[in-house]
Amino acid sequence: MNAIEIKDLIKTYPPGIKALEGISFIVEKGDFFALLGPNGAGKSTTINIICSLVNKSAGQVKVMDFDLDKDDLKIKSLIGLVPQEFNFNIFEKVIDIVVTQAGYYGIGRRQAEEKAEKLLRKLGLWEKKDSVAQKLSGGMKRKLMIARGLVHEPEILILDEPTAGVDVETRREMWDFIKELNEQGKTIILTTHYLEEAEQLCRRIAIINNGRLIENTSIKDFLNKSDEETFVLDIADQVGSLPKVDFPLKRINSTTLEIKIAKKDSVNYPIKILDQAGIKILSLRNKTNRLEELFIKLTKKE
Ligand code: ADP
Ligand code: MG
Repeated sequence: MNAIEIKDLIKTYPPGIKALEGISFIVEKGDFFALLGPNGAGKSTTINIICSLVNKSAGQVKVMDFDLDKDDLKIKSLIGLVPQEFNFNIFEKVIDIVVTQAGYYGIGRRQAEEKAEKLLRKLGLWEKKDSVAQKLSGGMKRKLMIARGLVHEPEILILDEPTAGVDVETRREMWDFIKELNEQGKTIILTTHYLEEAEQLCRRIAIINNGRLIENTSIKDFLNKSDEETFVLDIADQVGSLPKVDFPLKRINSTTLEIKIAKKDSVNYPIKILDQAGIKILSLRNKTNRLEELFIKLTKKE
């Protein structure tokens, strides 16, 4: 059984904005799946349709074999959503936000409080349980949304841009927490335009651009498609004219050069040649990560 099956999904917002132009993909049970794409690609629209927050215009959505057209309430109970925008009452206390949410799913007060405590402790929010949500930092607000999304113990957790505006340390904590959930068997779907996030966390990715799916593969295969890498070299002395070399070499400014290396080739060769030309290299770094380079290439084609 698949966790999610989406077929020919179309969404047109009034007065005719085509947000999704027929996308299809499958998320297997237990998967860690990323929906990648630039702003306005249609990620949130897709997520919000699955969670019944937005009505689809056409197409099919199945969650754990339940059809969205017939069993939207059942589907809601199977999914925990952490939406892109904060949507809790900022004047409500942290603990109440989580406990109230459990109530919507028919969980009794005592049990709800137990579950809320467990989650808030795990997410490092327990000391803040009596603060109003307004007083939390951005990262804490995001964690609160995760606690709220998990309180009814859904099979599937969907996070829409979970780490937008979250500091590095909190992001790492969130990653560890989400990874652990996945290891325990929960299906995780996240949308992001932080590509490193997908690279480090996910097993499969789908890339969506202008409402169309342009890639749907494992992260491993996706990264293997990369045929070359761009490196930026910081050099000690100013270079006037560049030496003649048999690899792509570009001058960015008087103390910065850029080289491209085929993935199968070693980085030793260009370094040796530049060294022989009297260029002293102080440091060497990737221009962008490979995923980012590929992503730009793919979305440019469209
Ligand atoms: P993403 O989450 O990938 O940034 P969205 O799904 O939010 O993309 O948006 C996809 C497209 O649909 C965009 O062009 C956006 O402007 C449009 N859109 C999103 N929500 C609405 C809405 N409620 N009404 C009209 N247009 C919308
Ligand atoms: Mg979005």
